[in-house]
Amino acid sequence: MLCDITIMPAIKKTIISLTSVALFVSSATWANSETSQKTDFLLIGGGIMSASLGTWLQELQPDWKQVMVEKLDGVALESSNGWNNAGTGHSANMELNYTPERPDGSIDVSKALDINEQFMISRQFWTAQVKRGILREPHSFINSTPHMSFVWGDTNVNYLQKRYDALQKTTLFQGMKFSTDHQQIQQWAPLVMQGRDPQQKVAATWTPAGTDVNYGEITRQLIGSLKKSPNFSLQTSSEVTEFKRNGDNSWHVTIKDVNNGKEHAIDAKYVFIGAGGGALKLLQKTGIPEADNYAGFPVGGSFLMTENPAITKEHLQKVYGQASVGAPPMSVPHIDARFIDGKRVVLFGPFATFSTKFLKNGSFFDLLSTTTTSNVMPMTHVGLDNFDLVKYLISQVMLSDDDRFAALKEYYPQARKEDWKLIQAGQRVQIIKKDEDKGGVLKLGTEVVVDQQRTISALLGASPGASTAAPITLNVIKKMFPEQFRSEQWQSKIRAIVPSYGQQLNGNSALTQQVWDDTAATLQLVKPPVIKMNADASDNVTPKASQPEASPQHDMAL
Ligand SMILES: Cc1cc2nc3c(=O)[nH]c(=O)nc-3n(C[C@H](O)[C@H](O)[C@H](O)COP(=O)(O)OP(=O)(O)OC[C@H]3O[C@@H](n4cnc5c(N)ncnc54)[C@H](O)[C@@H]3O)c2cc1C
Repeated sequence: MLCDITIMPAIKKTIISLTSVALFVSSATWANSETSQKTDFLLIGGGIMSASLGTWLQELQPDWKQVMVEKLDGVALESSNGWNNAGTGHSANMELNYTPERPDGSIDVSKALDINEQFMISRQFWTAQVKRGILREPHSFINSTPHMSFVWGDTNVNYLQKRYDALQKTTLFQGMKFSTDHQQIQQWAPLVMQGRDPQQKVAATWTPAGTDVNYGEITRQLIGSLKKSPNFSLQTSSEVTEFKRNGDNSWHVTIKDVNNGKEHAIDAKYVFIGAGGGALKLLQKTGIPEADNYAGFPVGGSFLMTENPAITKEHLQKVYGQASVGAPPMSVPHIDARFIDGKRVVLFGPFATFSTKFLKNGSFFDLLSTTTTSNVMPMTHVGLDNFDLVKYLISQVMLSDDDRFAALKEYYPQARKEDWKLIQAGQRVQIIKKDEDKGGVLKLGTEVVVDQQRTISALLGASPGASTAAPITLNVIKKMFPEQFRSEQWQSKIRAIVPSYGQQLNGNSALTQQVWDDTAATLQLVKPPVIKMNADASDNVTPKASQPEASPQHDMAL
């Protein structure tokens, strides 16, 4: 009894304190929920990835509220901007790094097929948006631009012939032509051939099926259309700074107004981190265990650019070359006709640049601030295992104007220095992932990271980039909402946008022709070639990596 009397006040005190704490916590939560904005889906970043994901979601689940936040004062100002990338509709027509030569001398076309299949999804996605009035005037964002590979020297000529032969056996690369004849190649690309040594052994492939794409324009138009919905809002000059997981697995996200430093919060059931180079840092801030697996390494790109009409009206194709002997395949040079914001220009490059920033408008502390105790070792391993890449980057940073001009003259022998100026394009963050055997590996594709509760996702990595925004963001949806994704309701909406969805095009000439014809008609591209498969064509090479890649850099094309 005595014991009870002495303990009772203490218990009472404890109950009172716990009750006050509970009241405080609940009132704080209540205050939070009162002051914070609520949304179903928060899209972080105003680039092509968030724009594509928002467009998919608006179609699949129009009743969801979406908020997009962008730290700059407009959308499409980082990598997706037309001036910050090469604008190639990557479909592996001409990118030689997507078709490595196997040790036995045969050509592995599986990666090329995979990339082409993905681009066909993007073509169908954009076609559907034009038909729905979401994207306007196709020539404002996509233009037919023949894709060519051009090489010289016995080894490269033999390789290109073998590559062409291998691609002829597939459905997706029909219509491609091959030549070693100077005159024929001069017809395809006059400036590449004029002034060239007539004795030089050269070869080229050419296809009319190529495109130049202004990804910035697509981004602006998609977001412009999303903004018309009362369920969508865009907040610019708004930087995401912190994340807190709520008890129900939704996210309390702190956002800073970059103009006045004031903070506000958004409670979102689902979050997509489509922050480009800024995605890794934000992923780490979420505290989800999956974030510990990654580190990032920035590689920027610069281009020589000319607006001289005498050149831009003569060079109307994209010509991709072969990396020089000893250089890693990421150094693939290309001279590209571009159509950006109503202007015709020609770009040559890329020249790799190094900065510790992860975004063009990022901070010099980006590299340091994303280096943690859990990713420093994988980074070190990757540095040691990829020493040729490190050496290559150093040599690129050391290039002088004369070196860059000499590289241009290999592709345009009569180039004049005064026509060209150097422009800085965007930053890419190559992903380094923990690996049990090697410590860390350089991942050259794109990684979709989703937490176990499937309420937050992030897109890391760089290649093949904006060309595959439609299939990549569909993959984000598949990973975050597997059940709804399988439902007939969502599947029929996806097929209404991408009629071939779920079917392999390669090996199916009729379907490939239909997709080519339909997308070309709506996107106002040149009439596609008629697919005529030879009897000996295998027409069924699976788009899966059939062999381990000979070099991890094969995937890297700027
Ligand atoms: C030199 C170069 C050449 C390229 N060439 C090609 C090509 O030819 N073809 C191709 O398909 N792809 C190419 N790419 C790749 C392509 O540009 C990118 O894959 C694509 O633009 C990425 O889109 P994104 O939406 O993820 O990122 P971004 O367009 O960079 O958008 C991310 C946005 O997030 C914002 N953000 C970042 N942090 C925060 C934060 N904390 N809060 C709020 N907002 C934030 C940024 O300001 C930015 O606007 C190239 C890239 C480079 C660098």
